[in-house]
Amino acid sequence: MPSYIQESDFIMLEEGFVARDLMEKIINEVSQTDDQDAFFVADLGDIVKKHLRFLKALPRVKPFYAVKCNSSRGVVQILAEMGAGFDCASKTEIELIQSIGVKPKNIIYANPCKQISQIKFAAMNGVQMMTFDNEVELSKVSQSHPNAKMVLRIATDDTKASGPLSIKFGAPLKSCRHLLERAKNLNVDVIGVSFHVGTGCSNPKTYAESISDARLVFEMASEFGYKMWLLDIGGGFPGRDDKKNLFNEICAVINPALDLYFPEASGVEIIAEPGRYYVASAFSLAVNIIAKKEVQVDYCGSDDGEIYPSKNIMYYVNDGVYGSFNCIFFDHAHPNPILLKKPSPDQPLYSSSLWGPTCDGLDKIAEHLQLPELYVGDWFLFDNMGAYTVVASSTFNGFLQSRIHYAMSRVAWEAVQLLQKGLHQVEEKETVCSFMSCGWEISDPRCLTSVFAPRDII
Ligand SMILES: *Cc1c(COP(=O)(O)O)cnc(C)c1O
Repeated sequence: MPSYIQESDFIMLEEGFVARDLMEKIINEVSQTDDQDAFFVADLGDIVKKHLRFLKALPRVKPFYAVKCNSSRGVVQILAEMGAGFDCASKTEIELIQSIGVKPKNIIYANPCKQISQIKFAAMNGVQMMTFDNEVELSKVSQSHPNAKMVLRIATDDTKASGPLSIKFGAPLKSCRHLLERAKNLNVDVIGVSFHVGTGCSNPKTYAESISDARLVFEMASEFGYKMWLLDIGGGFPGRDDKKNLFNEICAVINPALDLYFPEASGVEIIAEPGRYYVASAFSLAVNIIAKKEVQVDYCGSDDGEIYPSKNIMYYVNDGVYGSFNCIFFDHAHPNPILLKKPSPDQPLYSSSLWGPTCDGLDKIAEHLQLPELYVGDWFLFDNMGAYTVVASSTFNGFLQSRIHYAMSRVAWEAVQLLQKGLHQVEEKETVCSFMSCGWEISDPRCLTSVFAPRDII
């Protein structure tokens, strides 16, 4: 049984001590020194909770984590440790996931438009599951990866998503028959259908519509003699703690749709490719005020209509939109700063703005904030900074990426050991439960999805 992560890879949070406490401890420590760089605390225990919640909420679905969302080592290690699969979109992502010891069967190369050399790389390294949505890809694959197991990515109605994807990927239903016919002629194996409802999906019904569309494609495929056995319902699940209800609504739509269109008796395996769901809330970022500028303004008293002199304050901090806050541009995020100490009610508030450290005027994190006066050396915290942040952060202007401190509570670590044990038993017994390989029927209370979710950490 491989071990993907060790106790020495993270800081163990003993009872009662949480990730926020660790953050404050680090701040206190560095405040005595000259090293006040911005830093992340990544609570791997939060990812453990998310995983258990996912298994509980979607018992027929095996998650393949979308690596592009956050490829930090601790993240992929803890997910591998819990038996998740991985959605990779490039050679480098496949290399990363294989370097931590993940088997090829737990990887799907879910990029419908791939460079030929990278298709060959997948072939050389045993990665067989790959997606496609066009004819040219089929001829590339038939030449460069004859053993590939192809998954047909279909388009979705993603107009309600913050990051639509179907403008770039996904075959419309009406071209699927032709693609399947072409695949048959080229002797390419097509094993199933995938879709992505768009990242930040706010309309749960889209999943049901896409699952029903996928059923149609399964029927079409059988006309060409394909016995498809894989349905991949993609990503799009929300990951912030304040979006738990939406996640539950989405699952309440997916489960009956699966039972209707892909009942268990159909034998179809179901996977998903959640990205932000797993990591959004696990990462918090601390940034330090490195500079400050006051702008004098006249302020109109709302009660008496009098004009008073006041000031706007600009704070310059040591991470910005070219670093972790790239999510403002690429992921339509609106990060909200949290103060270490709550201001007392009698402290005056000033209209304030937050700027990154680079010399670009575009490097603005937030504005129109009402904040008490803060000083150089003070800290801001940002929650929900795990999705589409560190992955796209650059070192523009010579500002380095913020360091990540990994942490996990002991109770989460123990839950991981339990999960591990369950997975271990499987390999000895060689009995297979259809989605998590735990060795038990889904209905059996001993099945991983129910028994290894200690109530106190959910
Ligand atoms: C980005 C992406 C995902 C992950 O999407 P989330 O909305 O973060 O869950 C999954 N699958 C594919 C093919 C993607 O491109």
